[in-house]
Amino acid sequence: MHIQLADVLFEEGRTFHYEIPLERDVMEVGRESFALYEKSPVVLDIVNTGGQVIEIEGSCQVSAKIPCGRCLKEVETSFMLSISRKLDMKGSEQERMQRLDGVDLITGTKLDVERLVYDGLLAQWPMRVLCKEECKGLCSTCGADLNTDPCGCDRQSLDPRMAAISDIFSAFKEV
Ligand SMILES: [Zn+2]
Ligand SMILES: [Zn+2]
Repeated sequence: MHIQLADVLFEEGRTFHYEIPLERDVMEVGRESFALYEKSPVVLDIVNTGGQVIEIEGSCQVSAKIPCGRCLKEVETSFMLSISRKLDMKGSEQERMQRLDGVDLITGTKLDVERLVYDGLLAQWPMRVLCKEECKGLCSTCGADLNTDPCGCDRQSLDPRMAAISDIFSAFKEV
């Protein structure tokens, strides 16, 4: 969804209020995509503070299903975005590009709200999500979910790193 900023740019000092639905229902992070749901409208207050500088303040709530970093079970993760951007619209797009002034957000006089939310989500995206702190993950041998299905595989002898660690522990015990 886009917002036409022509009125904002024309009228200094007046705050324009917007509540618009978020269209995006997938979030791409690196090569992965995640389904978005429970999306609140994007609420924005936009004001031209003078001299072609616009300030954008806003918020949006959205949830994403992110697989647990250990067992891959989808974890419902909510985000409370608070948006605060200040964009200097002076000069040509090329000049703004050099100043890194939101060229990706505004084309002509249109603000790309989807992009605004994408930037906010990306900044808050967790490195890793766990379904629970003590999640046991998947068996590296048979792939069973060890939280619900203790498969009985002898994983230690098959993982050379684990074997090295248990050697250290047994050596320690003998001392
Ligand atoms: Zn898990
Ligand atoms: Zn197993």
